[in-house]
Amino acid sequence: MSRLFPIASSSSGNCTYIGHGKDGILVDAGISCKGIADALSLGAVDPKTLGGIFITHEHTDHIQGLRVFVKKYQVPVFASRLTANALTAEIPEIEDHIHIVEGDVAVGDMTIHRFATSHDCEGSSGYVISLPDGKKCAVCTDLGFVSEEVHAALTGCAAVLFESNHDVAMLQKGSYPPHLKTRILSDKGHLSNTACAKELQRLVESGTTRIVLGHLSRENNLPEIAKSSATAALMDKGLIEDEDYTLYIAPPKNGKAIIF
Ligand SMILES: [Zn+2]
Ligand SMILES: [Zn+2]
Repeated sequence: MSRLFPIASSSSGNCTYIGHGKDGILVDAGISCKGIADALSLGAVDPKTLGGIFITHEHTDHIQGLRVFVKKYQVPVFASRLTANALTAEIPEIEDHIHIVEGDVAVGDMTIHRFATSHDCEGSSGYVISLPDGKKCAVCTDLGFVSEEVHAALTGCAAVLFESNHDVAMLQKGSYPPHLKTRILSDKGHLSNTACAKELQRLVESGTTRIVLGHLSRENNLPEIAKSSATAALMDKGLIEDEDYTLYIAPPKNGKAIIF
């Protein structure tokens, strides 16, 4: 039995726990150290037992709590070479804890595979976690579009935490300045509800049964809109919620663990 626990998910902070038996990791540490530790304690996870923190990229909403968490609990940090360089420059105090992800990384009985995402950050990543029962899950947020590499990585995952950042019409009509709208909508921005839903059609058809929509914009999205965009697209393929798949929305904070 494995757990995917979206502790926090929004442009204010992202952090996800994935665990199986005694082994567990975090993807990102974008809320306070205390916030992460408190959430882990709800699931009876001792932060000191974490096998690693896998960083997707160095934007503040993904690393805000990293410095304090690593110093306090001495957990190794994994990232792509370019993200590792950025982390070392930004948080020199944790340099000795940073490891560059080259190939797959084994953490206890789990194996973590990095894949590249397209975002306005060089070397940004998503991660697929292979669990000892043969299942896989993935965390994939902060991407402008779904590349073939992303699709190949997510295919076959039982559970996927996937970005459903914005409703395009809400973003276009909203109050963001033009340069920010352009950035979000670009190939190096964030994934819209529509683009997310389109990929979900392919993923559920290939066996994904647990979907967690994450990194929803507070300004340019609503949980109901993100959800209906996904369920409508899946319905078009004849896929029924709670029969063929289960769908959750990762809240900005106080998320709940999903068992798969
Ligand atoms: Zn982000
Ligand atoms: Zn980002």
